Amino acid sequence: APVIGVLAVQGDFREHLAVLDGAGVPTRAVRRPSELEGLSGIVIPGGESTTIDKLTRIFELREPLQRLLDAGLPAYGSCAGMILLADRVVDTAPGQQTFGGLDMTVRRNAFGRQVDSFEADLDFAGIEGGPVRAVFIRAPWVEEVGAGVEVLARSPEGHAVAVRQGNLLATSFHPEITGDHRVHHLFAQMVTEYAEKARANS
Ligand code: GLN
Repeated sequence: APVIGVLAVQGDFREHLAVLDGAGVPTRAVRRPSELEGLSGIVIPGGESTTIDKLTRIFELREPLQRLLDAGLPAYGSCAGMILLADRVVDTAPGQQTFGGLDMTVRRNAFGRQVDSFEADLDFAGIEGGPVRAVFIRAPWVEEVGAGVEVLARSPEGHAVAVRQGNLLATSFHPEITGDHRVHHLFAQMVTEYAEKARANS
């Protein structure tokens, strides 16, 4: 079965590993380059995007992961992970880099500070069974998207907070801490489809 890695240098990677594990998806914490080998997908968790950026460079994960993403590896970024998958970031820290891939601009800390964290139930395109519980913690929002980016969910004020473009999925919020695992199921489905296609073409 395809293995989904979770980038485990900082942030709430344990929660993502637990959700995937609970769904019966083979997972692996990724801290060193060799742990990227053979993955069919990767989750970039929430945390602090500037720290994750720095640590992936220190742990020499940045270049190999960038290569895999450029080659089409499916990725799901939550919160800080969304920032790391964005081509453009507003209110970035000095020197902050992203992997990019999603043709969009995100605004970091857009919803305010830690005390402005909030929850909401959001309709999510492609997810059945009612709205998705979304927890926002110093979350970014998506300020503008290119033509290839599909907006899957919006905040109550109408900001785009979930997007997909090809093999990349991103949410401003944290489905890994709500007990509602439908976003992870959606990603696992994207990974399975990609793995099957890759097998058929090889
Ligand atoms: N504000 C954080 C950042 O800029 C993201 C917060 C989160 O991931 N919960 O990376």
